[in-house]
Amino acid sequence: MKKTKISGFVSLILVVALMFAVVFGVKNISTPAPAAPAGGAAIEGAVDGTYTATAKGFGGDITADVTIAGGAIADVQVMGPNETEGLGSVAVEKLPGAVLAAQSLNVDMISGATVSSTAILAALDDCLAQAGIDSSKLTGVVSEAAEKTEETLDVDVVVVGAGGAGMTAAIEAKQDGKNVVILEKMPYVGGNTTKASGGMNAAGTKMQQAQADATEDEAEREALLDSTVENYITDTMAGGHDINDPELVRTMAENSSDAVDWLESIGAPLPVVAPTGGTVHYYLHEPEDGSAVGEFLVQFYTQKLDEMGIEVLLDTEATELISEEGKVTGVKAESPTAHLTVNAASVILATGGFGANFDMLASFDPALADAVTTNTPAATGDGIVMAQEIGADTVDMEYIQLHPTVFQENGFLVSERLRSNGAILVNSEGNRFTNDLATRDAVSQAELKQPGAYAYIVYDSKYAEEKLYQKYVTNGLTVSADTLEDLAAEMGLEGEAVENFTATVEKWNAVCNGEAEDEFGRNNGLVTLDQAPYTAIKIAPGVHHTMGGLKINTAAEVLDADGNAIPGLFAAGEVTGGVHGGNRIGGNAVADIVVFGRISAQSACAYADAQ
Ligand code: ADP
Repeated sequence: MKKTKISGFVSLILVVALMFAVVFGVKNISTPAPAAPAGGAAIEGAVDGTYTATAKGFGGDITADVTIAGGAIADVQVMGPNETEGLGSVAVEKLPGAVLAAQSLNVDMISGATVSSTAILAALDDCLAQAGIDSSKLTGVVSEAAEKTEETLDVDVVVVGAGGAGMTAAIEAKQDGKNVVILEKMPYVGGNTTKASGGMNAAGTKMQQAQADATEDEAEREALLDSTVENYITDTMAGGHDINDPELVRTMAENSSDAVDWLESIGAPLPVVAPTGGTVHYYLHEPEDGSAVGEFLVQFYTQKLDEMGIEVLLDTEATELISEEGKVTGVKAESPTAHLTVNAASVILATGGFGANFDMLASFDPALADAVTTNTPAATGDGIVMAQEIGADTVDMEYIQLHPTVFQENGFLVSERLRSNGAILVNSEGNRFTNDLATRDAVSQAELKQPGAYAYIVYDSKYAEEKLYQKYVTNGLTVSADTLEDLAAEMGLEGEAVENFTATVEKWNAVCNGEAEDEFGRNNGLVTLDQAPYTAIKIAPGVHHTMGGLKINTAAEVLDADGNAIPGLFAAGEVTGGVHGGNRIGGNAVADIVVFGRISAQSACAYADAQ
């Protein structure tokens, strides 16, 4: 993800053209657009050409082609042959015309087809990024005639943010029979959750037991059975340098097994269990098909929201909490067409972190002003700011996690799962330099000390067929070769570095075969690298997760500076602080959003019932 700064861009957008397209049945998706967008000027940074991208739709791949001509979006084509007839197919048919007419991605999703709509917009966003266009800055066609209306909505529970925490909370609240609405500032759902690349940590689960029963590998069996709630607490606290809020950690750990069962019960099972980076234990629960947990959950959740009739107002940015006599009673928001007041018994903030707000990052660590981020441009800390304005307290704001394996050109995150599956990190001299599966902050710091402050993640082809691995190839991150020497050449290693590199892999294989101790103390993901072709990705640290955020208690109530719960205000996910302490271990973001997403909804519903 390109480094992006956004600020309230949606308030300018009026998608009159979409209404035109829908009302008048404009179907021709290749209608040429004006040479430049309405308003005259070409889109900033746009490079003319035709760009292609693919995203996973409901029925399979959706491919988008965008042609930029004269600095404007000149043509939009979308192919999604396997989308559900009458639902996803409508999105495939309508959205290209709407985007073309609006010269923006700020168009309404097709109701009932959020999975397809999300995939189409994600693919179009990718095309625009390839063309050098920051889609969040496209304000669309502005109609001078249209004025925003004043609108009011009355609900039991309003959820702000349709990432993993928000969607979990909304589903849980709806299951409780509440009238719930989600406000989402982007034209699509998912937030940073879409990018969660590993699995979801949980302890003491029936999936761990089943895998322990099935495996013939005694060490794996032992590690699985040892992945208990108490060890999960210890590992999470140790990973967070023991500054985590122990009560929040215990709450997450004790509710984690129930959370994976809940996901299974609503149709999103995570049956495959794998080791968690930074620990020797097996807490990571993953989808059966090897897909990344974030994409899997976001796709599932969007479909579930449709099914349950939960309304998501896209392009609707919450700007202010409504507070009366110390109680939060709703949210003010801006949509392209309205100033919106949502009156609610309870408000759940699920707006994510601030990993894409470079001013905010730099206020805690000036070195991060120009960092690469893995975050979506939406991660600007809005929920933290809004809650602070009414007296909420924050915690651990200065703890900002760098992820050690980020492709620097576009902020694409390379999952820890690769290292769990045997990948190693090698520097430009062809040498390993750290326990590759130490905590993220430790590995990042080790990388920054290498020549050039970068490294390569190197792996063989044992898992090449998995979706996760294929994504790196299709996104152009990888170099591959049939021999280690040729791979070294592809990586740009020369002379002694090539010899070092082949010797490094040999040494690693000896460790995996039990012939030697690992010099860096790595004791998990011991899988040999011996199956050609071999692959490498050049990586370096990038901003990944903001551990700090709003201070909450174990009921996900937001606390004020005196430690008192602010009535009516709840929060879950990356907008909160305390769960991860000084460093989040991989797999705990999803554990956090599912466990605390549910708890925030349970508390919000109980509070609403009591009003
Ligand atoms: P989490 O992992 O905690 O669920 P995510 O980053 O996945 O966090 O999701 C946060 C969501 O909140 C994103 O979809 C983001 O666009 C949305 N969001 C952020 N700020 C606002 C806001 N002011 N109003 C509405 N939605 C917001």
